[in-house]
Amino acid sequence: MAKFTVPVIAEYLETPKLQPDVMQGAGPFVAKPDMQKALGFPEQLVDDWQHVALDKMGELLKKYRSLQVYMDACVKCGACTDKCHYMLGTGDPKNMPVARQDLMRKVYRRYFTLAGKYFPKLVGAVDLTESVLDDWYNYYHQCSECRRCSVFCPYGIDTAEVTMAAREILASVGRGQKYANEIIGKVYTIGNNLGLPEPALRNTLEGLEEDIFDDTGVAVRLPLDEKGADILLVTPSADFFAEPHVDGLMGYAKVFHQMGASWTLSSHASEAANFGLFIGSYDNMRRLTLRIREAALELGVKRIIFGECGHAWRVAYSFLNTLAGPFDFLDPRYPIPQHICEYTYDALQAGLLTFDKSANDHRVVTFHDSCNVARASRMGNMAGGQFIIPRALIKASCNHFHDMAADTIHDQTFCCGGGGGLLTDDLLELRVKGALPRMQALKQVVEQHQVTHMAAICAICKSQFSKVLPYYGFEMDQIISVHQLVGDALVLTPSE
Ligand code: SF4
Ligand code: SF4
Repeated sequence: MAKFTVPVIAEYLETPKLQPDVMQGAGPFVAKPDMQKALGFPEQLVDDWQHVALDKMGELLKKYRSLQVYMDACVKCGACTDKCHYMLGTGDPKNMPVARQDLMRKVYRRYFTLAGKYFPKLVGAVDLTESVLDDWYNYYHQCSECRRCSVFCPYGIDTAEVTMAAREILASVGRGQKYANEIIGKVYTIGNNLGLPEPALRNTLEGLEEDIFDDTGVAVRLPLDEKGADILLVTPSADFFAEPHVDGLMGYAKVFHQMGASWTLSSHASEAANFGLFIGSYDNMRRLTLRIREAALELGVKRIIFGECGHAWRVAYSFLNTLAGPFDFLDPRYPIPQHICEYTYDALQAGLLTFDKSANDHRVVTFHDSCNVARASRMGNMAGGQFIIPRALIKASCNHFHDMAADTIHDQTFCCGGGGGLLTDDLLELRVKGALPRMQALKQVVEQHQVTHMAAICAICKSQFSKVLPYYGFEMDQIISVHQLVGDALVLTPSE
């Protein structure tokens, strides 16, 4: 049973009664010294942390002009105040996007503006004290960097960028977050977030091949480290065994099989997730991304395709070429990188796949747009492709599909509540409460259209929903992978 009050789903999403400081906790667990060290950060809070933090802030303000603009541009119009799922789920006013930004803006004014230096009280400037640092740690870990608020801000202020900068400053003084930093360290030492070594990975993939054969009678391969393959598939490690992720992986394999594609996974780049994004560290993001380049070179592939993972696609789509390019050794006829949904969609458009939609007739499906795909990337060669393509795949595989309310999908989609490095049990209360807006929209289509399943293309969304759905009276297996729907309906040709 929950040790906190689970919000009640009302008929319509309401702005909650404000409860100042109700989420004023200690924040998530702090990274241990060895976890900090592995990422190149101080092992614990440094003695002169205030100077180090301000120096870092000055460096980031110079480096990212956007951050400087975000600090200066807010006119306190209030348009963002009720747009954050954590504000809507908790009622804590510090979870209003503008208030979250102000935690940094007040310090910025104090040390980086003339008015703040001489008349701090007049301009709402504050000293960077230890209690301010605690507030930063706490509330910048109550932002999933989802960017929903920025869609509604008339100045386009992106709170996610502010959060990333704050986390980078925090890490630089020795206060990193355990969950994210530990995971990044695992990728450096073992190759993936889960710490799954090569023999275990190989064994898992062989098991999945057997499962598909038992189920369909068709020998579908899931190759690992096959030199000379055309396609390198980089996918979140949760796809290797978590539910419903693994069904998605089997779906990708079936599509590749049907296309007669030559493809492989890599034990060196066995992780698409890139938590460097979450902690705002481009250095770590680059180190993680380079593993993909190394694997592609080592295996001699011609294309790189990403599996279903929201923030991984954001990093790949926006930064892969900058961080790890040039990829001039790949085949220029294909996008670098490409999303598995784009690959399947192209095959569908070319009439190369046959579906038996009745295989999914026991499901009435809706689709959850994942934040990082919806608001930070694109798919296909068309505006809004990131909304059109996954839905086209679902509709090709299922007879029954219904979208959720218009103001909760596409670029207005609500975060699952577990993105941005918050998918950890020490933040369970925040995760459950932050899921409220999505749960409310889901309940509506369940009642109106008897929806039984919500499909997603993000590993974090899938894990988060498996955990929080039961808190709201749903079943944990009502979340499903888009490529599970595809794989279940795809008519397979037996291997030669
Ligand atoms: S980026 Fe998302 S989580 Fe962060 S303040 Fe904006 S709406 Fe909230
Ligand atoms: S919508 Fe933009 S300008 Fe208005 S209060 Fe929010 S951050 Fe400031």
